[in-house]
Amino acid sequence: MTATRKILALLLSASILTPLPSAALAPQDYKQEAIANIESHTKMIQVMVDTVFSYGEPGFQEFRTGAYVTDILAKNGFKITKGVAGIPTAWTATWGEGGPLIALGSDEDDLRGVSQIPGDPKIEPMVPGAPGHGEGHNSGMPLQIAAALAIKAVMEKHHIKGRLMLWPGIAEELLGTKAFYVRDGLFKNVDACIFTHVANDFSTAYGPSSNGMVSVEYTFHGKTAHAAGDPWDGRSALDAVEIMDVAMNFRREHLPLSQRTHYVISNGGGQPNIVPGVASVWYYFRDYTFDRVKELYDIGNKTADAAAMATDTTVEHKLLGTAAPNYGNKPMALLAQANIEAVGMPKWTADDQAFAKLVQETQHFKVEALKDKVTPLRGPREDSVPTGGGSDDIGDIMWTIPTITIRYPSNVPNTIAHNVTAAMAMATPIAHKGAVAGAKAVALTVLDLMMTPDELTKAKDFFNSEQQKYDHYKPFLSATDVPAIHVNDDYMRTYRPLMEPYYYDSKKYDSYLDQLGIKYPNPPTAPIRKITPPKSSGDTASGG
Ligand SMILES: [Zn+2]
Repeated sequence: MTATRKILALLLSASILTPLPSAALAPQDYKQEAIANIESHTKMIQVMVDTVFSYGEPGFQEFRTGAYVTDILAKNGFKITKGVAGIPTAWTATWGEGGPLIALGSDEDDLRGVSQIPGDPKIEPMVPGAPGHGEGHNSGMPLQIAAALAIKAVMEKHHIKGRLMLWPGIAEELLGTKAFYVRDGLFKNVDACIFTHVANDFSTAYGPSSNGMVSVEYTFHGKTAHAAGDPWDGRSALDAVEIMDVAMNFRREHLPLSQRTHYVISNGGGQPNIVPGVASVWYYFRDYTFDRVKELYDIGNKTADAAAMATDTTVEHKLLGTAAPNYGNKPMALLAQANIEAVGMPKWTADDQAFAKLVQETQHFKVEALKDKVTPLRGPREDSVPTGGGSDDIGDIMWTIPTITIRYPSNVPNTIAHNVTAAMAMATPIAHKGAVAGAKAVALTVLDLMMTPDELTKAKDFFNSEQQKYDHYKPFLSATDVPAIHVNDDYMRTYRPLMEPYYYDSKKYDSYLDQLGIKYPNPPTAPIRKITPPKSSGDTASGG
């Protein structure tokens, strides 16, 4: 190593303590104030993360979560608008005057059937069959609130012009809302958006990533009859569902490698001695470009029509959700990466590492310590034929305004998303510390954008040139599609009353683990305080 390199290395390591990637961006002391503000809210972040975890609300049912977080924002001077885009649980919270308008979003919903006692490395539902934060969305909005309060404090103190708009990802696990937000013009006057998502690393990315997707339910209508007495008088809607599924499964051989098609039979009829008059099958169609998703969606529609024709039934198509392929903004990702590196990973304790290891060992996952280094900036994927993966409807916003996702380290490596194992750490110090780190990265990046018009211009130029060269926004929504707000109604009518006894009471208990009587780290052999088990409905995870 040359002397110059040594000095450079020293300077770089010093920058970990003193976050300032470039003198042209927000001043160092402003950034330090934002960091100090977030650190002063460490307790508040823990309470918010634990409270939202305990509410455990799935898509379109985020009533209590929404009331809780908007109440905090309203008390801190944000103007709340509820029920945006015709979605009862959706809202915006705005603050500020003049200057750029930066949107801060994160998902709020959880998943059906993945209730899990936090801090417990064994699979143990809080309420069997109930929903649970098996992806960790409970940490995202608390993070954005902490970031927003810090940004607001710095902007007020130094008279910086600018506006913030917080918004929740409602029903992300159903890919259910963001395309509707865009259709309703929620982001019309927004300059840029920073989205956050829970992860086990601290990172951001630019260029194309997650798959686009359409979620559609086909409901067939036939004619009921006595299945033994006069079956010839019936026209089975279930036959149509089965023919459609068989046809799609044969067709699969002749579809591009990049596609992902999966389904559940959401209504298979009543009982065997009645020819089913109504039956439904719910499909997700995914691929990595707008055009490919559209082709797949068309094939699904055609196959449904063919199945109806083959069975003398009729079919109606109902779009339940959609997501554009993701595309991260490069100039914003560069800014965020510098700030992520400046913030660095949380300081994990021996207890945090021990808990992560207990989860991995108990669940037979690969044992891997909580990360101690941030992840290098990820560019566009390198595989020439991308082969699948999940979706996130942040894609629709990414094709509307310059947007990035910051992934923050609130979960344990090698756990499975959309699964109880990804809920185990989500009301423990691992989740709390990851949210604190994420809030700092968001706050610093927003200050850079607010104070450096050049950076916003660069972000917009990239959006208008580079990104549009790659593809253009082609929403999958038709003018008549409406948000599927009914999806979890019946389900939550059953489970909400059973979950209410376990809501976190932060006035009485220091943490949610304290309230549940769980030690941290809790060995798998430790008895968990008996939590009343009502009957399970056997529901499983959906969405995402
Ligand atoms: Zn998610």
